[in-house]
Amino acid sequence: MANRPAVLMRLVASAYAVAEKAGTIVQKVLQSGELGIVEKSGANDLQTLADRLVQKSICASLSKSFPKVTIIGEEELPAEAVEEDLIENGQSSLILQKSCPDQYASLKEEEVKRNRKQNMVIFHLSQLVVWVDPLDGTKEYTEAARVLYSPVYIQKPEQPYRAPNRLLDHVTVLIGIAYGGTAIAGVINQPFYNYQMGAGASLGRTLWGVLGLGAFGFQLQEVPDGKRIITTTRSHSNKLVIDTVQAMEPHDVIRVGGAGNKIIQLVEGKASAYVFASPGCKKWDTCAPEAILHAVGGKLTDMHGNAYTYDANVKHMNSAGVLATLRNHEYYLSRVPQVVLQALPSN
Ligand code: AMP
Ligand code: MG
Ligand code: MG
Repeated sequence: MANRPAVLMRLVASAYAVAEKAGTIVQKVLQSGELGIVEKSGANDLQTLADRLVQKSICASLSKSFPKVTIIGEEELPAEAVEEDLIENGQSSLILQKSCPDQYASLKEEEVKRNRKQNMVIFHLSQLVVWVDPLDGTKEYTEAARVLYSPVYIQKPEQPYRAPNRLLDHVTVLIGIAYGGTAIAGVINQPFYNYQMGAGASLGRTLWGVLGLGAFGFQLQEVPDGKRIITTTRSHSNKLVIDTVQAMEPHDVIRVGGAGNKIIQLVEGKASAYVFASPGCKKWDTCAPEAILHAVGGKLTDMHGNAYTYDANVKHMNSAGVLATLRNHEYYLSRVPQVVLQALPSN
């Protein structure tokens, strides 16, 4: 009988399946027109019914299959039973067929250590940590809904998600997997991918990657050599962000929502650097994107060039900003103004 796939590959395969389910939840909540918007810290920090349902779905599904893995989700939700229809038990068979990179093949859900002196076996919780952003780009999701359901908007039945500014492309579901503090695998579902392509196009897609194995679900492309296209926030900007982007002497600046979406732009050759010189992004925003970017040779750091860590006890806020590139990280680092470095100290 073939050996059971490694725990990491089973975890990624489950994350893939539940991310696809999550994508359909995000689509359905938009279709319903009842977003159930709640302000968290303010008008630019929102939670919708989709954020709540998806987090419940992902956390309950993964903890059912992997009870000893630590799972950290963005939303603070009351501890209550999760409806059975939110649970996903499936796994991507395509991922299960891939072989696990050697360095992760022996990871365990539960780590066993022996205390030789006392001849005792001690169980430790695994160092595997899953970071869940149930809906990244919530601000853009709510804005797209507002336009779609405004009285002046005429919805064409053959294009149910038509909305201006491609706002729905900014929305993703992020499941990041870390081991020993390093982001080693990630799954990103983009629920509205293809939404402007008409009724025949299949809606939504899932990208995934594992360090040492590569990344899948998209075509890796680079921005033409020498061209500096910067992608940055559209709804959380401030002077530090603007000054840093300008200091990099970009040929073009794209302002879009979502950390997941901006990493997709990097790996698909739409942007050369993701620059966010501000606190605001959290570990659940960067874990999955970082793993996928690193799996194809890119880099995500703070504005000083220091790596973030993703162990269970780490501070959630990425206080020293986010700088991510597929190539030429050093150039962008070298352009970060001194005042920005002073304003955003590394931990
Ligand atoms: P953005 O590029 O503005 O879409 O931000 C990427 C991610 O970081 C999203 O999940 C945002 O919600 C989060 N984020 C960035 N800045 C802030 C902020 N000032 N307050 C709350 N969340 C933020
Ligand atoms: Mg987010
Ligand atoms: Mg979110």
